[in-house]
Amino acid sequence: DAAITVIGAGLAGSEAALAAARLGVRVRLFEMRPRRMTPAHRTGNFAELVCSTSLGGEGEMQAKGLLQAELRSVGGAIVGAADSSRVPAGNALAVDRDEFSARVTQAVREHPLIEVVEGEVEAVPDGITVIATGPLTSDALAADVARLTGSERLSFYDAAAPVIAAESIDMDVAWRAGRYDQSADYINCPFTKEEYLRFVGALEQARSHTPHDWEKLEFFEGCMPIEEIARRGVDTPRFGPMSPKGLDDPRTGRWPYAVAQLRQEDREGRMWSLVGFQTGLKWGDQKAAVNLIPGLENAEIVRYGVMHRNTYLNAPEVLDSTLGLRADSQKFVAGVLAGTEGYLESAATGWLAGTNAARLALGLPPLTPPAESMLGGLVRYLASANPKGFQPMNVNWALVPEIPVPEGRRKLGKREKRPVMFKRGLNAFMTWAGEEAGLTVTPPAVPE
Ligand code: FAD
Repeated sequence: DAAITVIGAGLAGSEAALAAARLGVRVRLFEMRPRRMTPAHRTGNFAELVCSTSLGGEGEMQAKGLLQAELRSVGGAIVGAADSSRVPAGNALAVDRDEFSARVTQAVREHPLIEVVEGEVEAVPDGITVIATGPLTSDALAADVARLTGSERLSFYDAAAPVIAAESIDMDVAWRAGRYDQSADYINCPFTKEEYLRFVGALEQARSHTPHDWEKLEFFEGCMPIEEIARRGVDTPRFGPMSPKGLDDPRTGRWPYAVAQLRQEDREGRMWSLVGFQTGLKWGDQKAAVNLIPGLENAEIVRYGVMHRNTYLNAPEVLDSTLGLRADSQKFVAGVLAGTEGYLESAATGWLAGTNAARLALGLPPLTPPAESMLGGLVRYLASANPKGFQPMNVNWALVPEIPVPEGRRKLGKREKRPVMFKRGLNAFMTWAGEEAGLTVTPPAVPE
């Protein structure tokens, strides 16, 4: 009879185990807590929320809202437990942390097809396995995952720069070019001296009221946060990541005083990250600083910079869009280890990895959700993103295709297009789940 192993009963692993069991497949689920704790978890409960208690904004305008709706439509366990333990939080899905974890723990422990094994797994086992051990994967297992994937493809901390939606960059100010005669792979934002001094001043100010967790990290060369670079001297950024050398501004024909460069993150060029701008600044300060960059005054940040301990794979080099490891088709990865960020994203990739592992055990091919769905967009991104400097990704609207602009219009506003993208994504997901994956689908109620 069909059976799989799941390692880690966090957000991804709990969902993976329940998704597989729902398909009638037996699951052995390993969890090291409470016997062995991580630096962030406090209990032995499954799906413990280690920090905030929010699973993201709800409704048709929110990328997380679409992902929640997709998971609801297939009876996702994490979103179901969240709905049952929700607390009022404006337009967000926030939960009572203890009740939420207790519900997930009970669902897993009471499932007749799931056997929970307490203890640390030190090596990836033989057979069909979902690895979902999260940002604080134990050292022994991390070493074995690195052996399976190649050690240069496993990172142990995150030093991420903000990622910007291309459509929000003002290309009347910024321009495409490479340094000197290199190919025009970058978007460049030019600073005058006054603009530069204002920007560096804002970074220094912001630094003084951000807790510096990252100071405990050892930095590799070239991974210093931008606010730390700015603290070392007003000209330090300009001689480092903000150097204008070799970049002729087409409007003046000269090098600007300083430049912020953006590099393409996704295949379609809808997301761009600020090169050398890894940062641990609070999100409000980060947004204010980014909006001081000429050309980014109205920039929409689709993923904020972070500096913290994190264990994750270079997904585009090792995973395919079913969340299977390219090097071993019996192994699936989910959650932060698979290159996602966030509770909801972890649950969603857990659902897909668990479903696909179960399908494989049943002799069926693993699947990828449609590109228009948020889950489909996310896993396609993981499999196809720019592997250079790859950082874990949250869901956002730039992961799914744009809708065509009607004739006679220059642009569509967010309020017009997001509800359309929401309905398109949810319908595509439900059709796929019902017809291709053969699952029971229930259209979810969508919050305002
Ligand atoms: P986890 O939920 O961490 O689950 C992994 C499980 O695997 C754990 O239970 C762990 O004990 C177990 N495990 C590890 N190694 C082994 C082993 N060798 N054998 C057996 N079991 C093992 N995201 C948000 O959306 N909001 C936040 O506020 C937020 N705050 C965060 C704060 C911190 C400090 C960190 C580190 C991350 C935070 N995240 C946050 C990011 C991420 O969404 C969460 O970490 C999320 O829990 C990840 O889900 P996961 O399933 O990948 O990992």
